[in-house]
Amino acid sequence: MSGPPATRPCEGHLAELVDYIDGDLAPPALEALEAHIEACTCCSALERELRERIGLVKQAGRPEVPGDVRARARARVQALLAEARRAR
Ligand SMILES: [Zn+2]
Repeated sequence: MSGPPATRPCEGHLAELVDYIDGDLAPPALEALEAHIEACTCCSALERELRERIGLVKQAGRPEVPGDVRARARARVQALLAEARRAR
């Protein structure tokens, strides 16, 4: 697939968002991402969606989010971004 040039900063946050919700993001990046989520409706929607998915796994008593769940969450985020782009 050939997308437009990298003018969508949100795509750069995908991996960070997953790490953030998984509790893996360390302070400097963590604070920057939290500030971005506050300001960005796209990322706050993604954050909510991811939190639901990953939160369900954590509530099931698993200390770590399995790799396949993270992979699916990432795929879901990419789909959401595509939807958000089309809606604009
Ligand atoms: Zn964003």
